[in-house]
Amino acid sequence: MAAPQQKLTNPKRLLADLHKLRSFGSVGNGVVRPALTPIDVESRHWLVERMREAGLDAQIDGIGNVFGRDQRAAHTLLLGSHTDTQPEGGWLDGSMGVIYALEVARALRESGRFSERGVDIASWVDEEMRFANFLGSRTFAGLLEPTDAYPIVGRDGVALEHALRQASLIGRPVARLDPKRHIGYLEAHIEQGGILEASNNRLGVVTAIVGIRSLEIEFSGQQNHAGTTPMHLRRDAGTALLKFWAALEERLRPVVSPGSVWTVGRVVLHPGAESIVPGKASLLLQLRDVDSDVLARMELAATTLGSEVAATTRAEVAIRPTLRNAVPAKMNPRFQQALAEAAQLLAPGHWMTMPSGAGHDAQVFSPLMPTGMLFVPSIGGISHSFDEDTREEDIALGCEVFTTAICSLLDSLP
Ligand SMILES: [Zn+2]
Repeated sequence: MAAPQQKLTNPKRLLADLHKLRSFGSVGNGVVRPALTPIDVESRHWLVERMREAGLDAQIDGIGNVFGRDQRAAHTLLLGSHTDTQPEGGWLDGSMGVIYALEVARALRESGRFSERGVDIASWVDEEMRFANFLGSRTFAGLLEPTDAYPIVGRDGVALEHALRQASLIGRPVARLDPKRHIGYLEAHIEQGGILEASNNRLGVVTAIVGIRSLEIEFSGQQNHAGTTPMHLRRDAGTALLKFWAALEERLRPVVSPGSVWTVGRVVLHPGAESIVPGKASLLLQLRDVDSDVLARMELAATTLGSEVAATTRAEVAIRPTLRNAVPAKMNPRFQQALAEAAQLLAPGHWMTMPSGAGHDAQVFSPLMPTGMLFVPSIGGISHSFDEDTREEDIALGCEVFTTAICSLLDSLP
């Protein structure tokens, strides 16, 4: 491929909008803008104005999604990410992908290349789970009805219905996926890990988003007096838990893939006092991999180990799945190829293919239509933190690559 003569995107405009969006809820270098809080709603109104300036028909819908529609086009690629943040969030997590989408819309209009085809762009509400995971993208995809979601109470005790009413959004129509119109979904995002930086790469073409399984594993023994119960008569649930945890890595090694990760994120001993032999001990185990078969093998290895440990420690074990609907999401090969070609054109030798260890709205869309994702590096691999950052050159390069890939897909898709 020949080198491009002219940039499609405007890095100065892109960075200016990113910094403006950052100013809504900024705290130090970070941002506090949980979904549908007053400052988040304010930022959504600002985004609507930017989309209208870009020539799109834009509004905030009845669940809080900001949706900008290209009225000229009959067929569009859907571009989006999220602008809500964690309770302590970074300035680029989600926001970068939304402003990329805006810049793509502006670049396409300025280029004058496409008329029948274009992009519809979105900020999906509540990716960061104040109320429910992927609230906005699932509603858009038709997997969730707003009225069914109204009673959901957020982690801060506020009901979704109340938050929507406060924002004057309740009862507005919701934007919906249109299979005749939407020919695919693309999302750009910061990596939120350190793989790109460590390998001196500037772009990551995502192959798949990991699936997640979470298990609560509870050992039951006999709660008893810590002074009068001889060691050989104890049925100590805490000891069983510790043996399980200590043996877990060795059990998982033979069944995992090189990218598998697993985490014991919480341990509870009951009743949790120094003079009581614990009668119950539970842990939360999370398993992640891009392959459902690997996830199933990991779950089987963990449950088998749990039963074996229970038998040898005279405890009982109960294993309950706590999260099972986060299935792995494969990215479309053709979309991966378009992103890879654009990356090779603009950053030869400095891109790689990689799975995503974090969840993204793209996984909601991947079973419904061709889907692709592009990553840019996170400095130090840090995210969900005020310290999250990305080099400006990488932000600008990522947007140009994203836009180049989208033009190529709009040219070539049937
Ligand atoms: Zn995100």
